[in-house]
Amino acid sequence: MASLCCRNDHPINQLKLKEKIYRGRTGLNTKKCGICDKPIHRKSPRWRCEPKCAYYVCQNCYGEKTLAKITVAVAATADEKPEEEAPCNDIIGLTNAVTLLPLIATLTGRDFLHDYSDDEEDVEEAEAGQCASCSLWGMCFAGSAPSPAKERLRSDTGDYSLLGGRSDSDQTDDRSRTSTQFTLLTESPVLEMMEETETEDGNVPPFLPEGHGMTRTVTKALFANIVTAPAVGGLEIETNHSAYLLPPEVVLFEPTASEIGKPYEAGKPGKRLIFLNTKLSEGETEELQKLHKALAEESLVTREGVGDFPLYVRLHALRILQQSKFDTKRALEIMLTHLNMRVKCFPLSEETVFKDLQKGLMYWHGRDRMARPCLVWRLERMTGFTKERALKLVLFVLEYAIRFALVPGRVENWILIVDLEGVGMSHTSSANREIAKNIAILLEQVYCGRNFQTKIMSLPWVIRSIVNSFIPADKKEKVQFVGGSELQTVMGKLFEPHQLETRYGGTAPDLAPEQTYPFNFFPNARGPEGNDPSADKSLHMFADRAFHEGNLWDESSADVKAEWIDGVKGQSLSSAAVSDLEGFGVNGIKACKDVTSWLQLVNPEEAKRRQ
Ligand SMILES: [Zn+2]
Ligand SMILES: [Zn+2]
Repeated sequence: MASLCCRNDHPINQLKLKEKIYRGRTGLNTKKCGICDKPIHRKSPRWRCEPKCAYYVCQNCYGEKTLAKITVAVAATADEKPEEEAPCNDIIGLTNAVTLLPLIATLTGRDFLHDYSDDEEDVEEAEAGQCASCSLWGMCFAGSAPSPAKERLRSDTGDYSLLGGRSDSDQTDDRSRTSTQFTLLTESPVLEMMEETETEDGNVPPFLPEGHGMTRTVTKALFANIVTAPAVGGLEIETNHSAYLLPPEVVLFEPTASEIGKPYEAGKPGKRLIFLNTKLSEGETEELQKLHKALAEESLVTREGVGDFPLYVRLHALRILQQSKFDTKRALEIMLTHLNMRVKCFPLSEETVFKDLQKGLMYWHGRDRMARPCLVWRLERMTGFTKERALKLVLFVLEYAIRFALVPGRVENWILIVDLEGVGMSHTSSANREIAKNIAILLEQVYCGRNFQTKIMSLPWVIRSIVNSFIPADKKEKVQFVGGSELQTVMGKLFEPHQLETRYGGTAPDLAPEQTYPFNFFPNARGPEGNDPSADKSLHMFADRAFHEGNLWDESSADVKAEWIDGVKGQSLSSAAVSDLEGFGVNGIKACKDVTSWLQLVNPEEAKRRQ
């Protein structure tokens, strides 16, 4: 189906939103809708083509024209509709599908986040290039702030500071409680920090999109204690975990080259999936070196002259680089986003989010055959959430996997199911788009490098071809629409049936919202073979935070290498990791392949008790 096009015949597939992102400018350079010729208010959504021709379409016209095109297409292709797909030939169903488009544009990154200036946008965006593509599936959100904004980023403001001190009392009882204290001396919500107030010297402080608003003063204050902010952990949990949260098959998983992914080499994009406890390529080491150098030269993330990665992103440094396409400036901005959106929101207690967890907006359910946990995001259930509550909930859910369900060097990724069932007009409000956008930032930046694949369910088939044109080319292999007729085939390739809810092509019961937490995990994700009934169901109660951290094998300098190289001997390493180590000249370390030796490394007390 042909989509709506600009005068030069480019498909109109980019949505531009003004709300909240840009304030205080006059109405210079008013845009007009290319169809109805009415002016488009700078706060109203507008659509245009990817090459950014000066041709805009208002939301009304976009909806109407797309609807008309779809109606024609549906009539013409009535015979081609897959039988299992829900019928969608009534006008209400079609209108509903079309109203989804702005929301889906947000999810696929066809929704601009860096609207700094109407005056500059055409030039700046064309130059910056990547800026237009910040997306759930892959590119920068932070990376391509036009230069004036980057200057503004350096203004010195900020009225709150952080006093730290973490009392880490990771216990190894069967609740694996983490208690991380990280005290913010402010009540102001972290994400609301770029209010436009005058500073003492009368300069307008930085105005930045949410998640960017870090200023030097704040950073300096943070840095008095920044050594205490960990890269993993920060949740306080009282409820018992699933009895199958961390089975031996996950803890001892041996990744092959295809699970490890393709390391970055200069000139080629990095497609690495496993970043920790593994030897890095020369190209990656060089890029880490550049990042250390850039850190030493700037004064936002670390003090000037300090090139060490802050502890809270040390393990994630290469992930962040890959996410920013090895652009160090963008990588630094992602570090700030990480600080703003994760570090400063922790610790987060289960109690605070418990009710929201039971609404089933986002939850973990089972693992695929490569032991990757499956994250389910049901957009329909956004209703009633405020942005702050939704973000806290999502932070909790994502950090949960990092802290409890993943294993460095072995299982570092997840699979994301985005379920659009029941999503309709009531979900496409700007408030909901705002929530979706912020969740996308968390997934793409703060928890970058984690998503193995995204499966989108229940997308009305009539708009699939339009939505396909939204997805950036380099993300198409990672993102797939799964129609009702393909569920079993597509999902069956990845998952044992009992790991998935029936609604996603598995055999596990479909869960009511309140059944989704505590998260559900199951035995035998890798298949029934070799299952020993006397084996441990789960080992999570014996694993502390250090186990879930692992190391980034950063060799960018002798000092940096010295920080981790001695520690590797005490870690549970895969066969691949051990042969990597031999490449370093570190010999005599054995791969950890059974629970007994795993316990000796990770929990000697329990190992002794079992003797
Ligand atoms: Zn119009
Ligand atoms: Zn065009």
